[in-house]
Amino acid sequence: MAWFTRRRFSPGTLIVAVAIWMVLFCNYSFFKNVLGVYSESLRELGFVASLGILITALTVLLLSPFLVGRALKPLLIGILLIASMTAYFMDTYNVIVSSELLESGLQTDLAESIGLLSWKLILYLGLLGILPALLVYRTPIRVEPMRTAVLSRVKLFGGSLAVVLLMFGLFNGAYASFFREHKSLRFYTNPTTPIYTAIRYASDKIGGGNAIPYRQIGLDATQEPAVGKRRLLVVVVGETARADHFSLNGYDRNTNPMLAEHHVASFDNVWSCGTATAVSVPCMFSVLDREHYSERQAKATDNVLDILQRAGVNVAWLDNNSDSKGVALRIPYVNYRDRDVNLVCDTECRDVGMLAGVKEFVAMHPRGDIVIVLHQMGSHGPEYAKRYPESQAFFAPSCHSNLLESCSEEEINNAYDNSIRYTDYFLGQVIDYLKSEAKSFSPAMLYLSDHGESLGERGLFLHGFPYALAPDAQKRVPMIFWSSGGYPRVEKKLSGKTSVHQKMSQDYLFHTLLGLMRIQTDVYRPELDAFANG
Ligand SMILES: [Zn+2]
Repeated sequence: MAWFTRRRFSPGTLIVAVAIWMVLFCNYSFFKNVLGVYSESLRELGFVASLGILITALTVLLLSPFLVGRALKPLLIGILLIASMTAYFMDTYNVIVSSELLESGLQTDLAESIGLLSWKLILYLGLLGILPALLVYRTPIRVEPMRTAVLSRVKLFGGSLAVVLLMFGLFNGAYASFFREHKSLRFYTNPTTPIYTAIRYASDKIGGGNAIPYRQIGLDATQEPAVGKRRLLVVVVGETARADHFSLNGYDRNTNPMLAEHHVASFDNVWSCGTATAVSVPCMFSVLDREHYSERQAKATDNVLDILQRAGVNVAWLDNNSDSKGVALRIPYVNYRDRDVNLVCDTECRDVGMLAGVKEFVAMHPRGDIVIVLHQMGSHGPEYAKRYPESQAFFAPSCHSNLLESCSEEEINNAYDNSIRYTDYFLGQVIDYLKSEAKSFSPAMLYLSDHGESLGERGLFLHGFPYALAPDAQKRVPMIFWSSGGYPRVEKKLSGKTSVHQKMSQDYLFHTLLGLMRIQTDVYRPELDAFANG
C-alpha cells in the first residue's frame, strides 16, 4: 500500500474510477433488463457493452461540473451511498426510483423502515456504498493550481463527451431503436435516475415553498333537508388491495367470506389516481382529477371533508396507517397506531381497533349526519404476514420474509391473500356495527383502496411505479358499498345489483361523498358521482 499512500491522484481520476465502480456493481437491474430484450449475438452483446461505456461517460459528464474543490469527496461519498441503496431496492423489488417512490419513501416512518431492513440491505450498503466511500475518503488528492485544475476538468468533460459521441457513431441505428422502443429501460440507470429524480423532486418542493394562497371551495355548499333518519357513513380507505384478489370480483380463492354475506355492491372497474399512498390518498379526496392533480395544489385547496364539515356534517378521520397525507388537517383526527388509544394491538395495532373510536364519535354527536374515515393498515407490504393475527391465517404456507424473492410465488400470494381476507373480516365488523345503529341511522359503508400491488408478475414487486408504466395490478383497486337502506338515489342506481362494471376512478370519491350526504354546491359534478342516475 506504500505506493497508494504516496501517490496522489487527480480529481478526474477519482471521478472516473467511481463512475466505473457504479456502472459495474450498481447497475445489475439495468443490464438484466437490457439483456432481457437483446439476443446473445456478438453484435448485440457489443451494443450492450457500448451501453456500459456510454453510461459511464454520461455519469462523468453529468457529475464532473459539480464535483469540484472541497465538494469533491463529500459529494462522491453521498452519490456512492445513494447508488448502493438504489441498487438494493431495484435488485430486490425491481422497483425504479420515481418521484412517487421518493414521496412515499420520505413519508415512511420508522416502523415501516424497519420493515424493509434486511441483511441484504446492509450487505449492499456496506460493499457497494460504504467500502468504496471509505476508499474515496482515504485517497490522497493532488492539489492543483487553479489553471491546471480548470484545464484538466475541461479535458475530462470533453473526453467523456467524445466517448458518448463515439458510442453513438459506432451503434447509430441500435441507439435510435433502443431509445424509441425501450424508453422505460433508462429509468434503471444508476445513479443518474435517482439523482435526476431527487433534483426534480426537490425543485418541485422548493417551487412549492413559495406557498400558493389557500383556496376555500364549495363555499356555497348546503345540505338538502333530511328525509328519514340521520345518515351515518363510514368511509374505509384501504391499503395496497388489488381488485383482482377479491373473490367478489371473480378471484378464485375465497378472500371475501364476510362481505359475501352482507349483500354488498362491488365496483370491479375502478382505477387509482396514483401508485403510492402519498399520491392516491390526497388525490381521491381532492376536487382535482388525476390529470390535474398536484400535491401542491391539493394541499392548498379544501378537500371534500372540509366541504362536508362546513356544510354541517360531523366529520372525523381515524388512522391506523401512517397519517392522513394532509387530508385531515382541519377535521378531528385520531392516531390508532398508538397502543394507548387502540385496544386491539398484538404484534401491531389492528384496523378493527378503530371501531371503538367510531362508536365513541357517534355517541358524542347527537345531531346531524356523520362521516367517519377509517384509514387502514390493510395489506401494506412487503411483510404481508404481519398484517393479520396468526390465528386468522387461512392460506398456508405463507411468506414471512421482507425479501419477497426469497419466497415462492405461492407463499407470497398466500400471505397477501390472508391480509385481504383480514380486511374482509374488518369490513364485516364495520358492517355488523353499522347494522346495530340502524334504529337511529341510515348507515352505509364505502370502501376504496388507495392503490394495488405487484406480487412478482414480470418480476415486479410492491408498488410506486410511474403511473404511465405501472401494471394494472398496481392501479386497479377494489371499491365496495353497503347500506341497509335510506339512500333512495343509491337504491335506484344499484337496483339490487351486487356488481357494477362501469369504469370509474378515484376521481369519483369527491363527488360521490357530496352526493351521499345530499350536498348542493357548484363544485359537485354528477357525472363523477358513482350513484348519480344517468
Ligand atoms: Zn398505500
